[in-house]
Amino acid sequence: VRAKSPRTFWSIEVKVYMDIIVQKYGGTSLADTQRIRAVAERIAETRKKGYKVLVVVSAQAGMTDMLVKKIREVCPAPHKREADVVLSTGELISIGLLSIAINSLGIPAMSMNSFQAGISTEGDYMRSKISTIKMDVIMSSFKFYDVIILPGFQGVNKNNEITTLGRGGSDITAVALAAALKINEVEIYTDVDGVYTADPRIVKNAQKIDRLTYQEMLEMSGSGAKVLHSRSVELAAKNDLVIKLLSSFNYVKGTDIRKEEDCMEKPSVRAISHNMNEAKITITGVGGDASNIAHIFREISKESINVDIIVQDMENCKSNISFIVSREDYSVAMETVKKICLSLGADEIKGDSHVAKVSVVGIGMKSNPGVAAAVFDVLSNEKISIYMISCSEIKISCIIHEKDTEHAVRSLHRHFFETGAKGA
Ligand code: ADP
Ligand code: ASP
Ligand code: MG
Repeated sequence: VRAKSPRTFWSIEVKVYMDIIVQKYGGTSLADTQRIRAVAERIAETRKKGYKVLVVVSAQAGMTDMLVKKIREVCPAPHKREADVVLSTGELISIGLLSIAINSLGIPAMSMNSFQAGISTEGDYMRSKISTIKMDVIMSSFKFYDVIILPGFQGVNKNNEITTLGRGGSDITAVALAAALKINEVEIYTDVDGVYTADPRIVKNAQKIDRLTYQEMLEMSGSGAKVLHSRSVELAAKNDLVIKLLSSFNYVKGTDIRKEEDCMEKPSVRAISHNMNEAKITITGVGGDASNIAHIFREISKESINVDIIVQDMENCKSNISFIVSREDYSVAMETVKKICLSLGADEIKGDSHVAKVSVVGIGMKSNPGVAAAVFDVLSNEKISIYMISCSEIKISCIIHEKDTEHAVRSLHRHFFETGAKGA
């Protein structure tokens, strides 16, 4: 049953209505002691307005990168179960430190790890998915505590092993908790005060967007805008849950990500995103019919590698195929392809791990032809070579050399947003 107001939850355990807010704080928001104290103050303010606060935290900025480095130093191809044991520890430091800070303000707060909180996962190590959250322990604890603090990015699988959700996965935990509570919104606090028309670290003139549809945010996250994890947006859409993206550094109004409404504007171009974490593999001269191509991609999928844009053409009854994988999957994908393609008699296999993807996203693109031509015009005027192109109903993506990324993003932003406001 849906809650009465966006934040009201009927607690079976405590048998009262509770007003609960789910807040997630990212790594930069908790980067040092001063930041942890500042976040504790914010949570205390929310509590003073009468809410119970369910907090999800990331590891402190740089911590997970440091853990990845330590793991790789010990072994470049680590046992993934054990890598997850190490990777999950960053968030545990954050829950404890934040709880100490909140308690020191006189507010009863308790941290719980994912075993204690009943966050269950399924699927592969390092890219698992949340399967269920048993809310009873969390809810009963709200009887005695005003703030409960949970680690994002992890859970426990059916064998009682700790698994992580993939980089940036704390956003997913926050949305999953709000969905499990059946409340209608979640606040995600980060180091920018909203979603912008491009990454504000690259484009100085990027503009804040007040409202975005799930579909647009999904395309943006999927094409590299790491401000929200794409699976968190997917989950929010499934549960019709508004994501409020806010800054923990100020009190400025942020961006609401919600379902499409008729009254919402539909600019043809909403934002430019980019992803530097791409690699390209090309196989030339694959003979035979499509079953050979199916064979290649089946073997790649057995390695749990996601393939992005695929381009294929035929020449003298032989196929040339290019596709994109993420850089961390590049060496395994190359090895896999080399193994099968020897048996398929392919002419050549080439790899390039220095490519990037720039994408132009906008729901109004559906009804506004001409955006693709404009994108290609801009890139060609700037002498930026395009290696591959892919289009969805609301997105155009181009694979380019990584050295051209910032130049491409800035030029496209200038065209669509800064000269005559052709976009938003
Ligand atoms: P957190 O640690 O809080 O999860 P992230 O670093 O994962 O934060 O995400 C926030 C960052 O996302 C910002 O600092 C910004 O550089 C980047 N970003 C990329 N694209 C966008 C965009 N379109 N709008 C806002 N931020 C963006
Ligand atoms: N700490 C994890 C990471 O850095 C998860 C997160 O921050 O969302 O990827
Ligand atoms: Mg993040």
